[in-house]
Amino acid sequence: MTLPLKLKYIAALLALVFALSLASCGAQSPVEREFFCMDTLCVLKVYGNSGAADGCEALLTELSRAIDPYSDGAASVFNKTGESDSPDLAGLYALSDEIRKKTDGAFSPALGSVIKLWEAARDTGVLPTGNELENALGAANGRVFSENGILKKENAGTLLDFGAVGKGYAADRAAEYLKENGVASALVSFTSTVAAIGTKPGNEKWRVAVRSPDGKGNAGYIDLEDGQFLSVSGDYERKYSIGGVDYCHILDPETGHPVKNGVRSVVVIGGSGAETDALSTAVFVMGVEKGSEYCEKNGITAIIMTDEGMTFCGGAEKTFVKP
Ligand code: AMP
Ligand code: MG
Repeated sequence: MTLPLKLKYIAALLALVFALSLASCGAQSPVEREFFCMDTLCVLKVYGNSGAADGCEALLTELSRAIDPYSDGAASVFNKTGESDSPDLAGLYALSDEIRKKTDGAFSPALGSVIKLWEAARDTGVLPTGNELENALGAANGRVFSENGILKKENAGTLLDFGAVGKGYAADRAAEYLKENGVASALVSFTSTVAAIGTKPGNEKWRVAVRSPDGKGNAGYIDLEDGQFLSVSGDYERKYSIGGVDYCHILDPETGHPVKNGVRSVVVIGGSGAETDALSTAVFVMGVEKGSEYCEKNGITAIIMTDEGMTFCGGAEKTFVKP
């Protein structure tokens, strides 16, 4: 698939969230950058410091290369050779593994072998066999560890895949960079994860629209505070069908199968992009009942959407604005 086509596809199908119009910002207009990063379209809107926008784009491009398993960066080298000395990769893996433990395995950064099987199924229209799934799950449960600053794996078949956390991690790094470089007002969007820095000029909060999973417009809006991140995981994002059955891109690490539990999308709002991103995926896997219990118990602000309606957790209804 060529890049422009891929970008078009992403713009059309992955538009889960987007920043609302800046019409009320008066004379001030932001410096804007749009580029392909972390397998999606990244949009930076930065008020007051174009140098910081350029620096941020360079940082994100480099980070994206490091953690994309399909590029020539650290994650890809690790998957092929079983070793990496990249601090970026080790840091992201350590953070991800913490979230894996906290979510009781509903989110896993080492699911690459299973993801690869289902991507092949999507491309060929042939479902994986039980044997293939069993082998892939065995590899996904292999030990990954750090030794003298080198990330290593025990099972050669274990493949890291940061598809469920990478955009959030990158949003964290972008927000940190922009703040360090004196930016007081900015929005960083990776389509399914958004970071707010400060407010828009005029002291207005950054308002983000959340798409309705049925594709009929927006389910509502969320006003983000300074330092807040919002992530969405939706079953409509990269849906495909085989033999008349629909499959989604989110997998249950326990069974190795695409999730089919009635959840259509999950929105998570919080103070760390890596967490909101990984948690939106994990809560999707948990389902409405277990997921809402988990969010309430752990103080996670989330909205779980099904065809029947929305379940607000951790006070999410207070930040939700109806269309
Ligand atoms: P997201 O859209 O953030 O929910 O992330 C979904 C992507 O993460 C998929 O396209 C896979 O690459 C990967 N993935 C799918 N299921 C999981 C899971 N349970 N834990 C971690 N990564 C996953
Ligand atoms: Mg995610």
